[in-house]
Amino acid sequence: MDTLTSIIDKHNGPGFSFEVLPPLRGRGIDGLFENVERLMPYDPLYINVTTHRSEIVYKSMADGLYQKVTERSRPGTVAVAAALQNRFKIPAVPHIICSGYTKAETEYALIDLNFLGINNLLLLRGDKAKHEPVFQSTEGGHAHASDLQGQVNQFNDGYLLDGAKMDICTGVRFSYGVAGYPEKHEESPNAAMDIAMLKAKVDAGAGYIVTQMFFDNRHYYDFVDKCRNAGIDVPIIPALKPIVSLRQLTLLPRVFKVDLPQEVAGELMKCRDDKEAKEVGVEWCATQARDLIANGAKSIHFYSHNAVRSVEKVVKMVF
Ligand code: FAD
Repeated sequence: MDTLTSIIDKHNGPGFSFEVLPPLRGRGIDGLFENVERLMPYDPLYINVTTHRSEIVYKSMADGLYQKVTERSRPGTVAVAAALQNRFKIPAVPHIICSGYTKAETEYALIDLNFLGINNLLLLRGDKAKHEPVFQSTEGGHAHASDLQGQVNQFNDGYLLDGAKMDICTGVRFSYGVAGYPEKHEESPNAAMDIAMLKAKVDAGAGYIVTQMFFDNRHYYDFVDKCRNAGIDVPIIPALKPIVSLRQLTLLPRVFKVDLPQEVAGELMKCRDDKEAKEVGVEWCATQARDLIANGAKSIHFYSHNAVRSVEKVVKMVF
């Protein structure tokens, strides 16, 4: 498979990609296939597959006591990525995260992906565990996406964690991107520091950056300017999410630390129900996408979780 940057470069005109979540534990994959099939007629360039760490949950037992168990709500990223890539014949991009994984588990995932012919990745630190106030690295795991990059780079050079030389090398290397935050990562002391950390990830081999969602394109344009001034020269793929419910008016800023501009917040305040909110969300997302393309964006990434029909409307309107 080509690298994402070459796929975007070779594509005639602006393209798009989208992100899916693996099915909830115990659910089948058919619903996910149906969602992807909705978007296939519009010629997406690739599909990202998220990864979810395991969480501590308390289960009630017959005797009225609670049992503490560790559970992954959405397992199967590697398998889902392989199933999508085989079925739809476009690259699947699994997210590889530090959170909740040991380095050894990551190595096994890289070996599986190598066997499966999946060579595009997105490397991330991952979300904190729900029961922890701040991110804690897993024992035997990585603390930052940059540490994970080190492991993938070593794998690309043909060496396992213990320094043993691999003989599974097929000559295919993983190419990977990392995350960028137009409105700054929540833990970073300031934007300049956040961009300096991002520059280090690019210098260590990240081939592109994909952004956190944003609802005001000025944040993206300012971010790109700051990155370019800092010497970051890789593609910075803008990512959008169509708003699909009234609840997201307060939920998105709280969870993702992003602002909703007054123009769209005001329109959402006038909505009587989620159906009306979805219409506002589609219009706003399409307006953002058109503006990004007019300003030179070669590809746009969509966060499609719970929003596949809205993404479908947007790509129909814009591409
Ligand atoms: P890092 O690069 O480790 O950065 C985290 C913080 O540490 C930042 O403040 C940064 O400035 C700072 N920093 C970076 N490197 C260093 C260093 N070497 N030393 C000291 N400080 C440093 N989460 C999931 O759990 N699963 C997913 O599938 C997932 N997909 C995502 C996809 C996209 C496109 C984006 C934008 C986010 C995604 N996330 C996902 C959320 C992401 O994991 C969180 O935002 C996380 O808090 C940060 O990840 P990161 O890779 O940017 O971390």
